[in-house]
Amino acid sequence: MEKNLIKDTLEKIGQTVTISGWVDTKRDHGKLTFIDLRDRSGKVQCVGFQKMSDLSTESVVELSGIVKERPERMVNPELETGTIEIEVNEYKILNKAAELPIPVDSDGRDINEEVRLKYRYLDLRRSRLQQNIKLRNTYMQILRNELLNDDFIEIETPLLTKATMEGARDFLVPSRFQPGKFYALPQSPQQYKQLLMVAGFERYFQFPHCLRDEDLRADRGFEHTQLDIEISFVNREQVMKRIENLVKTAVKGVGGKLKDETFPVFTYKEAMEKYGADKFDLRTEEEKKDNVLAFAWVVDFPFFKKVDKGDAAEMRDSKSGWTFTHNPFSSPLPEHEEWLLKGERIDEIMTAQYDLVCNGLEVGGGSIRAHKPEVLKATYKVMGYSEKETEESIGHMLEAFTFGAPPHGGIALGIDRHVAILSGEDSIKEVIAFPMTSTGRTAVTNAPSEVKDEQLKELGIKVAA
Ligand code: ASP
Repeated sequence: MEKNLIKDTLEKIGQTVTISGWVDTKRDHGKLTFIDLRDRSGKVQCVGFQKMSDLSTESVVELSGIVKERPERMVNPELETGTIEIEVNEYKILNKAAELPIPVDSDGRDINEEVRLKYRYLDLRRSRLQQNIKLRNTYMQILRNELLNDDFIEIETPLLTKATMEGARDFLVPSRFQPGKFYALPQSPQQYKQLLMVAGFERYFQFPHCLRDEDLRADRGFEHTQLDIEISFVNREQVMKRIENLVKTAVKGVGGKLKDETFPVFTYKEAMEKYGADKFDLRTEEEKKDNVLAFAWVVDFPFFKKVDKGDAAEMRDSKSGWTFTHNPFSSPLPEHEEWLLKGERIDEIMTAQYDLVCNGLEVGGGSIRAHKPEVLKATYKVMGYSEKETEESIGHMLEAFTFGAPPHGGIALGIDRHVAILSGEDSIKEVIAFPMTSTGRTAVTNAPSEVKDEQLKELGIKVAA
């Protein structure tokens, strides 16, 4: 018999159904055994007469029985299927569960993180995480559908690539064919998405994983998922409007509440004066309790800043003591282009960057890009790159921009943070299926791990420490 979904049994009173799933709870009352069986659609009470006492919770079972209406006083309002139960005729244990190392019927917040992530496949069974992961899926599908309807196309870009500066350290991958040479995992698809604009696609998106070797925090991991977007023939205001509409539709589509229908725009200067930071929380105490989402834009950032000597990536990226605040591929504001080209008034040049903030977090950022080679070259010059060093680093971009590059701009939205905010979670780990531990180890598989000497030899690598 074909397997039925548990939620559909509600409509099958009097019929025999076959369902399968996990034993959520079990209660033995002498000859009668009650279990709640759980599948992806819900739970239902199943009653066995002189059966099922051998079942352990979280075992996987297939059973068939008759759907019966429950008497009025036995109705369970907590359960979607609380008006019915299944009178079990037959059952089969498909996989017997040993005692679980962690409970999965609580919200799990009081369980040690290392243990939760070691057994993430069990941790994910708890209903809080099931809901978070499903919300993430719905949010991403709405975003995807909106973009597809708006003539965007989804294009993948490589994972093994050359370093592109986003202000973090790179994860390097050694090349076996060319020992001593390395690929970098992308900190973002920044360069490829711009090249797709040169290629004439005009409207691009993808949900890439971006890899940045930086200090781990609750709202930041080595790996994060973006919604990465790039558009040709647009100005700053047009990109901001389009993204604002997109985000609003998706937030509402998953039942999120917005503080403002039109996101307020602050200049960096205003934000610093008013909130002392370029990310801030506009919610009232009441709105915080209600999990309202208060989005705002921040614009008119300085293009450059003095290198923070304690920041290894900034020290590496800059050769002059000046580095970019957000993105070296941004264009300056049009009225400041002249200064950049002449290398004057560096600290006064503003970038055509826009950041999206929500509830005190940065949840997106992008810019109108430099699409003329001389502008991009000038940015690298400010950072102290010689002609030769600029050529080595981004010569391919400069060349691409000589063959008909449209003006373009884009943005990347931090999907993990969006979903964490929407689901009322403090940590992005609660909305990622397999996040890393705070010590940078992978869930379940416990990497990084040692590799065999032969592998290192093949790669021409010797571990020094
Ligand atoms: N590449 C940038 C980032 O990942 C976003 C963008 O400017 O589109 O932060």
